[in-house]
Amino acid sequence: MRSGNGAEGRAGLGVMEEGVEHDHQELPSDPTLRVMALESLLVEKGFVDPAALDALIDTYEHKIGPRNGARIVARAWVDPEFKKRLLADAGAAITELGYACESREHLMVIENTPERHNLVVCTLCSCYPWPVLGLPPVWYKSAPYRSRAVIDPRGVLREFGLELDEAVEIRVWDSNSEMRYLVLPQRPEGSENMTEDELAALVCRDAMIGTAKVTLRGAAR
Ligand code: FE
Repeated sequence: MRSGNGAEGRAGLGVMEEGVEHDHQELPSDPTLRVMALESLLVEKGFVDPAALDALIDTYEHKIGPRNGARIVARAWVDPEFKKRLLADAGAAITELGYACESREHLMVIENTPERHNLVVCTLCSCYPWPVLGLPPVWYKSAPYRSRAVIDPRGVLREFGLELDEAVEIRVWDSNSEMRYLVLPQRPEGSENMTEDELAALVCRDAMIGTAKVTLRGAAR
C-alpha cells in the first residue's frame, strides 16, 4: 500500500484491513486456514497436483499483474492507431501485445479526458480485469467501496487523494462477470520526451481503476 496520501481517510473503504491483518494476526486468517485444509485434502486424495497449484499461483503473482495494463496504456499513449483499436475492441487489441481475455469475458477500455473521469467498481462482488491488472486490491472488494463508488464517487475519489474539479464529469462503470473495464488514464504533462518503457513505469494500478491519476512521480505498483 502506498504510504500517506489519504490512507487514514480510506480506512472507511477497508483499505487498512490489509495491513492490520498481516501485521497483528499470528495465525493465518480463517479463510486461509480453510483453503490450506482444502488443498491438503485435495492433494492427499490425488485430485490436484501441488506443482500445478504452484504454477497457477506463480502466474497470478508474477506474470499477470498491473504491469500488463501499464504496458497497454503506454502503447496507447505513443501509438494513436493502437489507441483507436484499443478503444474500439480492447479484447482484440491487447492480443497484439500478447495478452488475452478469457473467452467468456469482454474487456472495454474507457478513456479519461480533461472533461471526463472514469471510475470502475463491481457493485455485486469483485469482478476485475485480471489478465491486465492481476488480482484486485482489498479495498476494491470491500463493501464500502462497492456501494459508495456509485453513491458518492467524487467523495470516494477525494478519500483516495484525488480532487477533481466540479466541472469534470465522473462516470462510474459497474463490472460484471461478462464485462470488465480498464481506464486509460490521461498522459501526464511533461512526459512528451519519455520512451514507451519509461511511460509504462509511471502507470500505477489505481490509475487504471480510476482512483488515481498518472503523474510524473510515478507510483509503480
Ligand atoms: Fe463481481
